[in-house]
Amino acid sequence: MWSNKGFVAKIESMGTLDGPGVRTVVFFGGCPLRCSYCHNPDFWKVNTDDEITTDELFAKVERFKPFHGQDGGVTVSGGEPLSQPAFLTSFFKKCQENGIHTTLDTSGFGNAKNFAEILKYTDLVIFDLKEPNAFDYPKLTGVVKRVSDQFVDAVQRSGNKMWIRTVIVPGKNDTLAKMDEIAEVVNQLDNVEKVQLLPYHTMGASKYAELGIEYELEGVPAMSREKCDELMDYLKTKLNIYNN
Ligand code: SF4
Repeated sequence: MWSNKGFVAKIESMGTLDGPGVRTVVFFGGCPLRCSYCHNPDFWKVNTDDEITTDELFAKVERFKPFHGQDGGVTVSGGEPLSQPAFLTSFFKKCQENGIHTTLDTSGFGNAKNFAEILKYTDLVIFDLKEPNAFDYPKLTGVVKRVSDQFVDAVQRSGNKMWIRTVIVPGKNDTLAKMDEIAEVVNQLDNVEKVQLLPYHTMGASKYAELGIEYELEGVPAMSREKCDELMDYLKTKLNIYNN
């Protein structure tokens, strides 16, 4: 399932948040989800001007290899990287062949038949656990949760290391009960190295007006960092990885 062409919306050269060490972060274009808090609605649709070959993308990334140091590497984010499975696989394969650590930042939404092949060339999965409850999941994302469950199952079978992330939005999921639900999901998984709560911010809101798209979270304030930290402190008491 190789494709040596795909769509890349943006590249950041010195990312420090999306995986270990210093990373080159590649944002693939295109996403089938519609998360209410998404700050990259401009990446939802593929821009045909953004087409690039695997070799061209690798050449751009390779220039930053000296900055990656011992721990860093490449992170592919989006958009939803799993919506370009063949391009993702060929790019990660090329990175690994050249000694560059690969991290996949994903919601887990894609075609399940591609998951095992992608994971062969993935060193670390950052899984965006959008919502632990299957009933509430579509309201937040516009898609069913079942597909991301299949992705998590594939990660478990592959033995890949995982980081888990959830965005916390005031008035939506900033409760201890939601932390209990997150803990219940995470405690069933092997190979989880880290769990992070990301405070919702409003920096993407103006993009919706520019794109003429209604913003569901209009008027919802940014999540306070302090409250998010308090929720994380509580969550840690419930997570096996921090208590064993
Ligand atoms: S998966 Fe990411 S890019 Fe897609 S809608 Fe959700 S937050 Fe936005």
